Amino acid sequence: MDQSPDPVAALCAQLQVLRVCAPEEAERLVAGARQGSDIGAELSRLLLRLDMAVVSDTDRSAPVGPAMIGGFGRHAVHEHFRCPAERCSRVQARRPAAPAPVCHLEGVPMRLTRS
Ligand SMILES: [Zn+2]
Repeated sequence: MDQSPDPVAALCAQLQVLRVCAPEEAERLVAGARQGSDIGAELSRLLLRLDMAVVSDTDRSAPVGPAMIGGFGRHAVHEHFRCPAERCSRVQARRPAAPAPVCHLEGVPMRLTRS
């Protein structure tokens, strides 16, 4: 299926790798994203060149749902990390004992939200 993820979210999620593999392009994309320009095409070209998949690790699912652990009546509080600057649509489910993911665009930890 042709699911086009938010390019800014994809950049945010993969920036660490991109900064190592293609530092110049990575910084250009960051500058573009900060200015609000459309970085989709350039990002996919770069990922293609580096043989990387176009994924945003956006994950809206709860890691362990009540149905999966069979715990009916348990409180399923869905905690998600979101982009602190709300610059991108990256969302990551909170994983037990895992440190807060970092928004690589802003260089700060992502914000924990509950729903
Ligand atoms: Zn971000």
